[in-house]
Amino acid sequence: MKPSGDNNDSSRAPEVAAAALYIVATPIGNLDDISSRAAAILRAVDVIAAEDTRRSGRLLASLGVSTPLTSLHEHNEAGRVTPLLDRIAAGGSVALVSDAGTPLISDPGYRLVAQARARGLAVIAVPGCCAAVAALSVAGLPTDRFRFEGFLPAKPAARRARLQALRQQPDTQVFYEAVHRVRECLADLQDVFGADRPAFVARELTKLHETSYHGTLAEIACALAADPGGERGEFTLVVGGAPAVAGNVAELERVVAVLAAELPPGQAATLAAKITGASRRDAYRLVTAPRGGGAE
Ligand code: SAM
Repeated sequence: MKPSGDNNDSSRAPEVAAAALYIVATPIGNLDDISSRAAAILRAVDVIAAEDTRRSGRLLASLGVSTPLTSLHEHNEAGRVTPLLDRIAAGGSVALVSDAGTPLISDPGYRLVAQARARGLAVIAVPGCCAAVAALSVAGLPTDRFRFEGFLPAKPAARRARLQALRQQPDTQVFYEAVHRVRECLADLQDVFGADRPAFVARELTKLHETSYHGTLAEIACALAADPGGERGEFTLVVGGAPAVAGNVAELERVVAVLAAELPPGQAATLAAKITGASRRDAYRLVTAPRGGGAE
């Protein structure tokens, strides 16, 4: 495998517009959040592939950039990849931008980047805004490990099924949600994760009406319901992970009781640990402990 990039000066940006695909982050609201490197690369490349050319055109106009635009969105990406990559293979340079934030993060571009990599072409990150990372950075919830879930399914049954699968997940979780589904999503989160789960909701990050809500899921749902502004804007939800096993003893006990009645202790403990996310040691202790004994 050939490593890409051999820039020895770690503080120097790579040469602008060498034959490459540049993945360029753009603002999520505040136009001042574009980096000077991003602006320089957008100015210098041969063509900019944009999710919505009209929207990106406005950003480029504000930067005084007149690079030609071509569209690349969810519905035409498959057909656009080859000609764009052929252009890079012939020595050209292409930048990819999405409507807001970092391309590929719940945005188009995956096929373009995957195929560029498969063809051995240079792919260069021009990092910047990402609503998920911005929300995490101010949420006050653990960030040592987190799980990005993007958009939950729009249909209630599928959404609840996905949340059920995430219920015992111990890491902080980040969700994107459309404004018209935020309330029902918060209701489902309360039902499935429990109303007391700590969370943070960021609305309109970096924009004029930026608002944040923090507390338990129940408190946030109440605050949002009471805020008329909460009916508009863009939302990112950050939800604390499932509490450590000690807080889930009741669930572990319930599962252990069902399984231990049907299976040998070792097998019951292994299955209970898999189902609840508890350690096998804690599950086994519960299987063999007299009633009332518990996990640590
Ligand atoms: N690629 C983008 C990024 O890097 O954040 C995300 C694109 S995704 C299609 C759009 C979703 O991101 C919105 O529905 C919302 O959940 C979240 N989002 C984008 N801008 C936001 C903002 N200013 N404040 C809060 N959430 C935002």
